[in-house]
Amino acid sequence: MPLYEYRCASCDDRFEEFRSFSDADDGVACPACGSEDVKRQLAAFATSSPSGSGSRGSGGGSCGGGSRGFT
Ligand SMILES: [Zn+2]
Repeated sequence: MPLYEYRCASCDDRFEEFRSFSDADDGVACPACGSEDVKRQLAAFATSSPSGSGSRGSGGGSCGGGSRGFT
């Protein structure tokens, strides 16, 4: 499912949603003000969101489980 970016025409908020192609413009409401007067920006196919902290979930971490206890 592609990630679409929307901009609210009422409060100028920007948000992103995963939508299927057929639902891309259907019933999208601004999470900030609830307005459905939103405009879809160009679809951003993942990757390269400048001010976003992605990478939740997959991989990373591996803290703990190490070999500590050098006593
Ligand atoms: Zn809004």
